[in-house]
Amino acid sequence: IAPYDGIDTDEIVRSADLALYASKGGGRGQFRFYSSDLHAQAERRRQIEEDLRDALAQDQIYLAYQPVVETKTNKVIALESLMRWEHPELGDISPSIFIPIAEEINLIGALGDWALKTACAAAAQWPGRVRVAVNVSPAQFGNPAFSSVVAQALATSELAPDRLELELTESIFLADDQSNDAMFAALKMLGVRLALDDFGTGYSSLGYLQKAPFDKVKIDQTFITGINEPGNRNAAIIKAIVGLAEGLGMETTAEGIEAHDELDAMRKLNVGSIQGYIY
Ligand code: MG
Ligand code: MG
Repeated sequence: IAPYDGIDTDEIVRSADLALYASKGGGRGQFRFYSSDLHAQAERRRQIEEDLRDALAQDQIYLAYQPVVETKTNKVIALESLMRWEHPELGDISPSIFIPIAEEINLIGALGDWALKTACAAAAQWPGRVRVAVNVSPAQFGNPAFSSVVAQALATSELAPDRLELELTESIFLADDQSNDAMFAALKMLGVRLALDDFGTGYSSLGYLQKAPFDKVKIDQTFITGINEPGNRNAAIIKAIVGLAEGLGMETTAEGIEAHDELDAMRKLNVGSIQGYIY
């Protein structure tokens, strides 16, 4: 609305565009008026996008490692590497903000390859047989050269292949079946382990479990929260996932365990391992 949202054509069109963008982001059948927050948000996003392009070269990206603990023995059996960005002015920027941006501006391949190499090099120094889990984005997995990137990370670090676990989400299955099958075969040839991440939050098609050679299913936190509340249905769902995984010879990990009663519930449900922060 002129003159509030702009006094010339460029300004008013830009404001309308931001309102349109916000409306699209809100789902179907929505409308939005322009507000100055939209402008501030767009500015912030633009800055993040620009800074992200230099973040890796400037050593602002690092990996944090979250332990994966076996429920039966309480032993740490693996560490999941998680990408973090410490921005020099804005402080820690959440991966839920910068990963989608990295995907959009085609930076996720470079970031992902860096994470893979860095995590393998770190894990090679860890004692015993502790594994390292690395998250792989659909864009990385879809790159035909990905298996050679993995092979190279293993060779350089001298990490045993079965100590590397690649975490894939269901969104990789939106891509072409044949090239997926070829990539699965190439990765299995290398001897790395494969985990299906965030299970239950996407399409959760049983077809994926039938075809793809996963060693592990990771149960998303959405199925953990509230598990001990009366009338909560999560236990039934987890029980079914654990039964399915066991039948298919796959391990299970529950993510986002944040309280002792949740941990107890996972033990009762025979979930193989857990990760999360217990305060
Ligand atoms: Mg993960
Ligand atoms: Mg996950």
